[in-house]
Amino acid sequence: MARTGLVLDDVFQRHLTGPGHPECPERLVAISDRLIERGLADRCTRIAPRAIDVEFLSRVHSRGYVDRLARACERGDAFIDTADSQICGDSYNVALLAAGSILAAVDGVMAGDIHNAFCAIRPPGHHAERDASLGFCLLSNVAIAVKHLRERHGVGRVLILDWDVHHGNGTQHLLEEDPDAMFISIHGHPQYVYPGTGYAEETGRGAGRGATLNIPMLPGSRDADYRAAFDRQIRPVLETFAAEFILISAGFDAHRLDPLAPVEIETESFEWMSDMVLDAAGHHCDGRLVSVLEGGYHLGALADCVSLHVSRLLMRHDC
Ligand SMILES: [Zn+2]
Repeated sequence: MARTGLVLDDVFQRHLTGPGHPECPERLVAISDRLIERGLADRCTRIAPRAIDVEFLSRVHSRGYVDRLARACERGDAFIDTADSQICGDSYNVALLAAGSILAAVDGVMAGDIHNAFCAIRPPGHHAERDASLGFCLLSNVAIAVKHLRERHGVGRVLILDWDVHHGNGTQHLLEEDPDAMFISIHGHPQYVYPGTGYAEETGRGAGRGATLNIPMLPGSRDADYRAAFDRQIRPVLETFAAEFILISAGFDAHRLDPLAPVEIETESFEWMSDMVLDAAGHHCDGRLVSVLEGGYHLGALADCVSLHVSRLLMRHDC
C-alpha cells in the first residue's frame, strides 16, 4: 500500500500572479506532469484539499491581516503589501486550501494512515509574517502546521528544516521564542540574497534562544559546500534534537539552473538532503515527516528535484 501522502490538485493553479511572475501556476503543471510521467503520483496516497478554519488561522496570523487579505482579493487588488506578492480574486481561498491541506497531511501522518507526505501547494509560505505578506508568500504554512501539531495532536518537539535558497524569515519570526520548535534554515547569504535576513547570529529569542540555526551560504556555493554544511551543522542537530515530528520547507531554488539566487547545487543533492532528514525522522519519530513546497522557479529543474524528493519519501517504506 502506498504510504506517502501527496497533495497535488489543479485548484492550486487558480492563484494567478500575472504575466512573467516566477511564482506561476505552471510550476505545479511541471511538477504534476513529471510525477505522473515517472509513475510516482500513482504510488502515493492522494490527500484531498481542505480549507483551514479561519478562526484557527487567526491565532497564527493577526485577524487584521487575514481580513485584509480576504478583502484585497475580493476587491481585485493586483497585490498585497508588496508588488512581489501578486494576488487574484481566488488567491485567498486557494491560500486557505493550501494551509488546510498541509494540516490534512499532518493528520494523515499522525493517524498512521500514511508515513510521510509531500504537499505540492502554492502560494508558498515561509516569507509571510504575522501581519503581512512578503516575497510571494501569503500564509505561513509551516508555522501554522506547528501550531496544529501542538493543539490538535499534543506534539511538543517539532523540527523544521528550510532548505529554500531564501531565508525563511516568516517561519523564524513566528517560532523564534519557542524552545521546542527547532528551526534550521540553509540559504543564500543575506548580504547578497533576498530577503536580507538569516545571519548566523540570529539564533532565537527569549526562551527560544538556541532553537534557531541559520546557515548562510555564499554566492557560488555548490554541492560540496552544502554537503559540508549539512555534515557539520545540520546533521548534529537532527541527531540530538529528538524531534517528535519533522517538517521540511522544501524550496528547490538553490538549484544551479534557478534564476532567483546565486547558489548552484545539482539535482542529485536533493536526494542526499532528503535522505539525511528521513534518517533523522526514522530514528526519532517513527518517520513522521511532512514536506511542503516553497520556491523553485526553473520549471524543468523544479520538476526533476521534486520527483527525486518524492521518490526518496516513497523509498522509506515502498521498496
Ligand atoms: Zn526561495
